[in-house]
Amino acid sequence: MDIFCKIISGEIPAYKLYEDDIVLAFLDINPQTNGHTLIIPKKHFLDIDDIDNETLKKITETARYIKKLISSKLDCDGITFVQNNGECEEVKHYHLHVIPHYKEKQELLDVIDVYNKLKDENLKEK
Ligand code: 5GP
Repeated sequence: MDIFCKIISGEIPAYKLYEDDIVLAFLDINPQTNGHTLIIPKKHFLDIDDIDNETLKKITETARYIKKLISSKLDCDGITFVQNNGECEEVKHYHLHVIPHYKEKQELLDVIDVYNKLKDENLKEK
């Protein structure tokens, strides 16, 4: 079982920002910048060739929501989406990186501190 399937099953904990029946968004454990988030399908898909269009649509909707959340709670200047395949993909479970960009170089905060800034009463509502 890959590490993201273990996060979905609850075997490994994660700082979750959004969850429904189809997708899960959580903070990357080794962030490139503060707020670096991963969005994954709950069903196992390997990569962009494997995932179906309906699930991909759900991932995109969630990406929009996470972009809005991060933009409203963190003082970032832009947001990049990255999705790796083949040799570039370390964890073999489809995932979309959401990576905030800051004009000024930021000190990397503990993931829990970023989570506390991002967590929202209405996280379940998109
Ligand atoms: P890839 O290179 O496969 O696109 O990126 C995998 C990402 O998953 C990396 O940014 C890495 O930090 C993140 N990651 C790996 N293991 C874990 C984990 O157990 N928990 C969390 N939250 N992120 C992880």
